[in-house]
Amino acid sequence: MPLTAKGPLKRSTRTLWTLLAVLLPIGLGAVILYAQAERALTRSSLETAEEAIRQFDLMLDNSDIAARALLPQVGQDCDEVRQLALREQVTRRPFVRSTNLVWRNSNYCSSLLGNYPVPLVPEDYVDGRLKLMDGNPITPNTALLVYRWSEGERAVLATIDGYHLTNALRLISRFAHLRLQVGDHWLSRNGRVYHGSPPPAAVASEHLSSSHYPYSVSSGFPEGSTWAYMKSQYPALFSLLVFLGAGAGVLAHWLQKRSASPSHELRRALDAQEFIPYFQPVVRGDTLQWAGIEVLMRWQHPKEGLVRPDLFIPFAEHSGLIVPMTRSLMQQTLQALAPHAQDFIDGFHIGINITARHCQDLQLLEDCREFLAAFPPGKVLLVLELTERELIEPTPTTLQLFAALRELGVMIAIDDFGTGHSSLGYLRKFNVDYLKIDQSFVAMIGADALSLHILESIIELSGKLDLGIVAEGIETAEQRDYLAAQGVDFLQGYLFGRPMPSTEFVAALARH
Ligand code: C2E
Ligand code: CA
Ligand code: CA
Repeated sequence: MPLTAKGPLKRSTRTLWTLLAVLLPIGLGAVILYAQAERALTRSSLETAEEAIRQFDLMLDNSDIAARALLPQVGQDCDEVRQLALREQVTRRPFVRSTNLVWRNSNYCSSLLGNYPVPLVPEDYVDGRLKLMDGNPITPNTALLVYRWSEGERAVLATIDGYHLTNALRLISRFAHLRLQVGDHWLSRNGRVYHGSPPPAAVASEHLSSSHYPYSVSSGFPEGSTWAYMKSQYPALFSLLVFLGAGAGVLAHWLQKRSASPSHELRRALDAQEFIPYFQPVVRGDTLQWAGIEVLMRWQHPKEGLVRPDLFIPFAEHSGLIVPMTRSLMQQTLQALAPHAQDFIDGFHIGINITARHCQDLQLLEDCREFLAAFPPGKVLLVLELTERELIEPTPTTLQLFAALRELGVMIAIDDFGTGHSSLGYLRKFNVDYLKIDQSFVAMIGADALSLHILESIIELSGKLDLGIVAEGIETAEQRDYLAAQGVDFLQGYLFGRPMPSTEFVAALARH
């Protein structure tokens, strides 16, 4: 049935939606946090590079001061200047390890080795000023940065020890990979000098050039640094995301359960006008002429097809939706039948099934008034069928309602009579006009002596109480003949006509 078939069939889809609701906030949050982490790492990488530039500029500034101070000494005898001037600069200037004097491209005087002429090629220096070496004859395999300051044929070299450079690369950032590049040589954190350009970092790769000296610095982080950063920096936000995901999952699950609940589905169907009336003819017991109809509700479900009322009426009663559903049914009935009222015999019975709950609602009176007003006066007789299976409580509202209904000329029938426990007092209190004998008794005609006995008692009782009697569920000629012989006023059953949609009924009505 449509109200429960939804469950197992769609469970996988529901689980999928719930899963999506869990994963979406977590995924989206993770993407945002990832972008945030990338931004933070880029900023950190840039700051690291800027700090490195500041440090290297400072070292080179010291070399520059030393070189400029020594420039006037170039050309003088090495032994004379070495002890005082050259060594003084080495001692006074931080980072400067050695100084050399160069005259006409001959490196002729060194603070370390004294008078030791070696040729010098200015083109080996980037912009004629800077050279990164992986060692010299005194300290091979140890990085050196040589600063050259020249004027005409005079030049001074001031050398910075690789130890200071490597130290700076390591200490400025513990995590970032920093490299110093001079021309086509670069220095890594491990103190080694390589030829070419350093490979760009996997994450947040930045490259900055000094504005004072011809060198640059590159910075960045190794593969996987973004996730590592997120894990270390956002643990609280991660927990919040998981919490949000779980919350969204619970909400999605609840909403889906609610939307799949019977009352929600019935409300949807009511709005979509899926509840339609079927009409079953009721004939006179004596002439077998069509004397009325019973309106039976059907649910034209978009997927399940035509649904029988006993499968959804209990849910409709429970949720209270039976009231608007019955109102809609009455509206559709009058719209379908009012234009054909001339084909009815006078006092044509129209039976509508009403639940006990409905009888607590005075609106029912207005609905009946409106229904009767749609037909010419005296043309139809509205019969409300109340099942004996659930008895109506005699509250002030129900008593007021039934008195007003009687005044309006609405008839009351007790449906499924014989299956419940209505008393004589009950029949009187609610001004009952008809008893509808339950189908089970009719089905026993010709089979069960006891049922036949009950049937005869009901017929006799109705005669004494001056109540009209309707027998339903008549399927055979034997049942028909027996009940007609008993003087039953109205007969209803497949033998005379099955419940049918309004168009079919209207067509059949013209033939009768
Ligand atoms: P009910 O009021 O006793 O209606 C008679 C039921 O017997 C209908 O079943 C009808 O189709 C069926 N019937 C008629 N003639 C024969 C026959 O010769 N043989 C057999 N085997 N069955 C026959 P249906 O339409 O399935 O309705 C079932 C029940 O659902 C109704 O029993 C009624 O209690 C309830 N119902 C139907 N429409 C409405 C409605 O609009 N409002 C309310 N509250 N209940 C409704
Ligand atoms: Ca009925
Ligand atoms: Ca019945």
